[in-house]
Amino acid sequence: MTPVTETAPERSLNFIEEIVEADLASGKYKSIITRFPPEPNGYLHIGHAKSICLNFGLAKRYGGSTNLRFDDTNPTKEDVEYVDSIKEDVRWLGFQWANERYASDYFGQLYEWAVVLIKKGLAYVDDQTQEEIRSGRGTVTRPGQESPFRNRSVEENLDLFTRMKNGEFKDGEKVLRAKIDMAHPNMLLRDPILYRILHTDHHRTGNTWCIYPMLDYAHGQSDSIEQVTHSICTLEFDVHRPLYDWFIEKLEIFPSRQYEFARLNLTYTIMSKRKLLELVKNGYVHDWDDPRMPTICGLRRRGYTPESIRLFAEKVGVAKRDNVIDLSLLEWCVREDLNKRANRYMAVLNPLKVVITNYPEEQTEELDAINNPEDESAGKRKIPFAREIYIEQDDFMENPPKKYFRLSPGNEVRLKYAYIIKCEEAVKDASGRITELHCTYDPATRSGSENNRQVKGTIHWVSASQAATAQVHLFDRLFTEAHMDNIPEDKDYKDFLNPDSLQTLTAFVEPALKNLAPMTHVQFERLGYFVTDKDSPSHNPVFNRTVTLRDTWAKVATKN
Ligand code: ATP
Ligand code: MG
Repeated sequence: MTPVTETAPERSLNFIEEIVEADLASGKYKSIITRFPPEPNGYLHIGHAKSICLNFGLAKRYGGSTNLRFDDTNPTKEDVEYVDSIKEDVRWLGFQWANERYASDYFGQLYEWAVVLIKKGLAYVDDQTQEEIRSGRGTVTRPGQESPFRNRSVEENLDLFTRMKNGEFKDGEKVLRAKIDMAHPNMLLRDPILYRILHTDHHRTGNTWCIYPMLDYAHGQSDSIEQVTHSICTLEFDVHRPLYDWFIEKLEIFPSRQYEFARLNLTYTIMSKRKLLELVKNGYVHDWDDPRMPTICGLRRRGYTPESIRLFAEKVGVAKRDNVIDLSLLEWCVREDLNKRANRYMAVLNPLKVVITNYPEEQTEELDAINNPEDESAGKRKIPFAREIYIEQDDFMENPPKKYFRLSPGNEVRLKYAYIIKCEEAVKDASGRITELHCTYDPATRSGSENNRQVKGTIHWVSASQAATAQVHLFDRLFTEAHMDNIPEDKDYKDFLNPDSLQTLTAFVEPALKNLAPMTHVQFERLGYFVTDKDSPSHNPVFNRTVTLRDTWAKVATKN
């Protein structure tokens, strides 16, 4: 296997690169620090991969560094299982973080800063119920109402907040709120909640805390603590930016700056962690790493390579407006990469037996095959040929239309790496079903021999007695609807699950495909790129189809 080198494509700077270059040129920063801040409440998906490539890619390009920071402020939904999978996925994508950090590492500092805000008269303890707080917030067109507890003295607030921390109150009894402006046109600035009481153990801090910071409060301050220069997030956070800046200004801490880019949306794909979790929990897919999932571990098991995902992130670019990327771009990227690295083999998915009647019964031959025409160093191998072979059922038609260049009665076709054969007879059973073909071969047409005859069609095949069997999984889109972000309101996303997204076959494969290590990328000639499953037993290999060789979906979609 040859490593794929990514040559930096010639392209203009994206808007974030422009900002970074300006900041470096003006001397605002000597070097940049970015971070990737997942909440450890699910597995990473292709959207996260985009964000990872962007954050780590920027630091790499400009000689800076990137932290992996787990924004673990919600103990009820988080788990170390997710932390471990996230680290594995980031590493697999080819990135190394400078520091592994957790928002929970900063709970002490964040608490101190909350005290600073209280002392400055900029935060207060509110005794209202969740419902009262919500309705008191007003609407976009109507200003909110001030809480009756808003004007508590600093001393009282300090005392109550300390007692919140000490566990004197029950969940939901009190919260700490910033004191900003209940009539602010941006609803997020109408006294946002900073802390809530949760008597729940945290996956890292155990039972040390029973108050937890809200993400908005923890996130920006964590950036500051790490001296993140460019805090990159998705567009929906642009309304949070004034709050992000407010904390920095009032606390007089390191001025991290937030920049927003459009989140990645893909056709036929959902990316909400809640929905992906539901698919797993309710058995619509086998697990998080089911090859039909848009998760990074699912894509990996499907046969996607880190290079193909990085190429995809590069091609998608960095947009300022939301858009939906065609899934076929992702598939194109993996074809580009696998074309260079995957050895070619022959496999027959839907076998039809062919008996070559003029080929001597006891004879077998070892034919030369090129492993990868794109990579000479991949070398050659031998493929056994014999009197009985399998071809694809699709490669034979009894009554073919014009321009059908595969096998049909009286017609010739080339067997790849072997000979030209001619179909003499289609043998049928009592019900009229074709059971096998009787063909003859032309011994003078062995591939590689001089002055060879040409025929229009070339098909793949395997030797019947020497073939191995293999389990093959073919996948289709998990959803039937391209714009899953825009389905009718009376429908549920599960209404659009594709019932035919997984097809499992027993295939005949050439012997060289036995004993491949798990996660080996191959091409089955004419059928697509496949990968041996991560749990593939060597004696009975299991292959997952990564992608077909061409984009077949467009045709199917218009036919239906
Ligand atoms: P949730 O689905 O739980 O709301 P999330 O998908 O935003 O969460 P996080 O763990 O908060 O997940 O995301 C980590 C980082 O990845 C964030 O900076 C977020 O903006 C980014 N990210 C998440 N989804 C996408 C996406 N589809 N495209 C680009 N970036 C994304
Ligand atoms: Mg999020």
